[in-house]
Amino acid sequence: MMIFIKNEEVEVEVGKTLGEVFCKLKYDNSLIGAIVDGNLKDLFHVVQEGEKVDPVFTDSDKGLGLIRHTAAHVLAEAVQSIYPETKVTIGPVIDDGFYYDFYSKRNFTEDDLVLFEKKMSEIINKKIPIIKKVISKDDALNHFNSMGESFKEELINDLPQNVDISLYYQDEWSDLCKGPHAPNTSYIKSFKLLSVAGSYWRGDENRESLQRIYGTAFFSNKDLKKHLALLEEAKKRDHRKLGKELNLFSITDEIGPGLILWHPNGAIIRRIIEDYWRKEHDESGYSLIFTPHIAKADLWETSGHTEFYSENMFSQMDIDSNKYQTKPMNCPFHIMIYKSELRSYKDLPVKFAEIGTVYRYERSGVLHGLFRARGFTQDDAHIFCTLDQIEEEVEKVINLTTKFLNTFGFKDYEIFVSTKPAKYVGSDSEWDQATKALKNSLVNKSLDFSIDEGGGAFYGPKIDLKIKDVLGRSWQCSTVQVDFNLPKRFDLNYISRNNDRLQPVMIHRAIFGSFERFFGILIEHYGGAFPFWLAPVQVKILTVSDEQFDYCDLLSETFKKSKIRVEFDKRNEKLGLKIREAAISKVPYVLTIGKAEVENKTVSVRKYGGDQLGELKVSDFVDIVNSEKMEGLS
Ligand code: ZN
Repeated sequence: MMIFIKNEEVEVEVGKTLGEVFCKLKYDNSLIGAIVDGNLKDLFHVVQEGEKVDPVFTDSDKGLGLIRHTAAHVLAEAVQSIYPETKVTIGPVIDDGFYYDFYSKRNFTEDDLVLFEKKMSEIINKKIPIIKKVISKDDALNHFNSMGESFKEELINDLPQNVDISLYYQDEWSDLCKGPHAPNTSYIKSFKLLSVAGSYWRGDENRESLQRIYGTAFFSNKDLKKHLALLEEAKKRDHRKLGKELNLFSITDEIGPGLILWHPNGAIIRRIIEDYWRKEHDESGYSLIFTPHIAKADLWETSGHTEFYSENMFSQMDIDSNKYQTKPMNCPFHIMIYKSELRSYKDLPVKFAEIGTVYRYERSGVLHGLFRARGFTQDDAHIFCTLDQIEEEVEKVINLTTKFLNTFGFKDYEIFVSTKPAKYVGSDSEWDQATKALKNSLVNKSLDFSIDEGGGAFYGPKIDLKIKDVLGRSWQCSTVQVDFNLPKRFDLNYISRNNDRLQPVMIHRAIFGSFERFFGILIEHYGGAFPFWLAPVQVKILTVSDEQFDYCDLLSETFKKSKIRVEFDKRNEKLGLKIREAAISKVPYVLTIGKAEVENKTVSVRKYGGDQLGELKVSDFVDIVNSEKMEGLS
């Protein structure tokens, strides 16, 4: 049969593994796996007719998943060899590393991690081959039952009866696992255990408490060191830490987990973003609307949220004799406004935008500061249009999106177009036309994108855009999703040129995703040192003594008239201390005023993280900051 290796046809025998195929082709042992039809596979993968195979070598990041998965197994073996009563559960690869969840009466400590690392090094140095065995469900149950691995038994019991189950062995130790893995343990050139945290079996707080050990692995020490330095920098920039230090926001026990309080400093930044957002949407043909935070349960029944989304919705409440629920999404409200009038083809596209707060029941284990909250505010919009209008409208969305993201310093994107999945609503021709329109909108802008084949939602194809922050981390923010489903469920229509009632297409889109999450990303991206136009306090005035107060009050007034956000520190503290504190709060400009400045009618200027600008005339300083004000919002 034929397969394709690096796009070239290669004849192979039926039933051969990647390992056997590559061995015959005389690849050396820097080859550790392959991307097969888009998925990372190990050398045990049995090749199938027509598969597209792209070899993966030890010098490429693509192969990191293999050694990280193997490192997770090596960790589990190390833990069980040191504390044999420990039970294993699951140990997947995640972004930048891996974890393994253990069930143990013992609370693992930092010292334990050192012990585990030592044991792992021993296993890795032995260069133990990784062996895959495929067995029946019954044999797998017996295997793990005899070892008392009850969590594994539970996983296997959930699998269909006739499925082949694969085990991966390193020496005697084995794990239930789909793979993929490195050929032997020595491919893990460099690894580190990072932390231990609590988790629950199957993420369910009513089930057993587990301990999750996080780690990472690389093909070289140099790469590991680079990664650890990045983690160190990310820790310094953690938005939860900076949020407290800069007094931007808080999350309190009294209010409840996952619910954000925006403090005045954070609220200033949010208002600037909101004002900018509203202005841009106004100018781009959107009608700005407001909608309530709760609605009758019937609405969520019609939209399908009750059926498909209920586990993310909060419980119902009784009002009069009706059931109500908080909204997890804004879409049905926008739909009701669309339906409030008879729409004609001349009205389309109809575009509604809302800064709309939604509530989702995120489980307590996954809450994470501003990144994952239970109440958050989407920069939401819905476009109701014809199939033919999709391309032009999506192109406009892409223009608006890139303009926004550029404004906040994000110039690097990864774009994905997700196409029709196995189960879908709408006709094939509708899907084809919509998918083509999405691709064209990107091609027209000369933007590169990848295709996530079959990765669309059941209701329509979509574009997702990931931004890269200053540390090179990726964040999924913007999304544009075509929807053939909701217009049908809500029986939307418009009157066509020929007086027929036709169904419009609906496009959901968000640029930031949510204000909370985007704010978190911004805090970490800028490390809390916001650019001038976003900084809650832009200029701080410090004096040598109270003799300069009158002059500084006048300065404050001058700045306020120029719409500069200024703070005058009148506390009776030493100048040195006030300068240090101003630096911690990362205010862009700090002015120090003494006798000389009062006499000369000047200001002495320090720029955050940059040069001392020295003594400047007040008007010259105002000119400098005014030019910076424009930079962001041009
Ligand atoms: Zn929507």
